[in-house]
Amino acid sequence: MTREIYLDYAATTPVDPQVVERMVRFLGPDGVFGNPSSSSHRQGQEAYNAVQEARQQVANLINAEPDEIVWTSGATESDNLAIKGVAHLYGHKGKHIVTSTIEHKAVLDTCLYLEGLGFEITYLEPDQDGIITPGQVESAVRPTTILVSLMHVNNEIGTISDIKTMAELTRDRGILFHTDAAQSAARSLLDMRAIPADLVSLSGHKMYGPKGIGALYIRRNPQVRLQPQIHGGGHERGIRSGTLPTHQIVGMGEAARLVADRQDTDLTKIRALSLDLLGRLMKIDMVSVNGNREHCVDAILNVRVPCVESESLMMMLPYIAISNGSACTSASLEPSHVLTALGLDEETAHSSLRFSIGRFTKEDDIRQSTEQIAVAVNELRRLSPMWATNYEIGRV
Ligand SMILES: *Cc1c(COP(=O)(O)O)cnc(C)c1O
Repeated sequence: MTREIYLDYAATTPVDPQVVERMVRFLGPDGVFGNPSSSSHRQGQEAYNAVQEARQQVANLINAEPDEIVWTSGATESDNLAIKGVAHLYGHKGKHIVTSTIEHKAVLDTCLYLEGLGFEITYLEPDQDGIITPGQVESAVRPTTILVSLMHVNNEIGTISDIKTMAELTRDRGILFHTDAAQSAARSLLDMRAIPADLVSLSGHKMYGPKGIGALYIRRNPQVRLQPQIHGGGHERGIRSGTLPTHQIVGMGEAARLVADRQDTDLTKIRALSLDLLGRLMKIDMVSVNGNREHCVDAILNVRVPCVESESLMMMLPYIAISNGSACTSASLEPSHVLTALGLDEETAHSSLRFSIGRFTKEDDIRQSTEQIAVAVNELRRLSPMWATNYEIGRV
């Protein structure tokens, strides 16, 4: 049997074994399974205390206060709550929102929905490296702008945006700033005392926690208000109703604690592995990088491999987990909207591959996968008429 090699950490991370161990203590009949809202008995109080501890752990990771953290089901819900919550509360003040063409679908589809309700959306376009600049934000905002929503780390190409300058700029103009930071938390890139963003979306399963849990950071000073999107028992100070999933929450809390605890070891190791991966991929003929390797996270690497359809390559190597776009859109045959936004034509977008590495990646994973990819690339190119006419003949 061939060993599975997982290089798709941007789609999801495995849950850290220490997180699993903590989670199961909040499930069974002998565990702390009580409803955190049941304040009349010990079971409920203990669950409540665990939820509050996790809230503190997530707050610590991003240098925020625990009462600035609202639990959600994931970054998708956080994005929805942030954007619709602002639009529905402040829509009477203005109906203009600024975002970009390289956002996650959770942001893009929410904006599309708001367009249907009469909001006007400006979609900023990145340069060919995938960078959106503060200058673009400055030119796009208007007196009627109520919200700017721009992601921090792009999930397909790994580029990092200067959200600090952007948020300072919107703060000066009385406009709220939201950032989807699902890909930043695992890399300890957020400091909410230094970055004046108002709303920040986080996801448990992108930082070695479980799927189905996330958080929205909502700034308290100056206080940001939102219209709730899920109504019910008034949980989370009325902002997001629904019984708190204690096991999920303690999982995300423990995951946050581990990220902070291990950040030096994790990031140093990932940096070395990423350089090794890039070096090995660049040895394959004609491979080049999508995005920008200076303003990016080490963990995400997107490359184009001319004359190789990524779909065919991945079918040849099913035990190597890589991707050709975001997992959330891989059900469709459309080329990645992020790569086409960088100016890549459809064919080039379809011959691109995303590698993403993390805490459990081994040197051997990089070596073995790149060796097998190199062989598969040669095989596919041998069969490609494009390769023969455009490259091989010209070179002999
Ligand atoms: C994964 C991801 C999401 C979606 O997060 P869920 O917790 O799965 O809903 C949103 N935005 C970005 C940038 C992501 O990488």
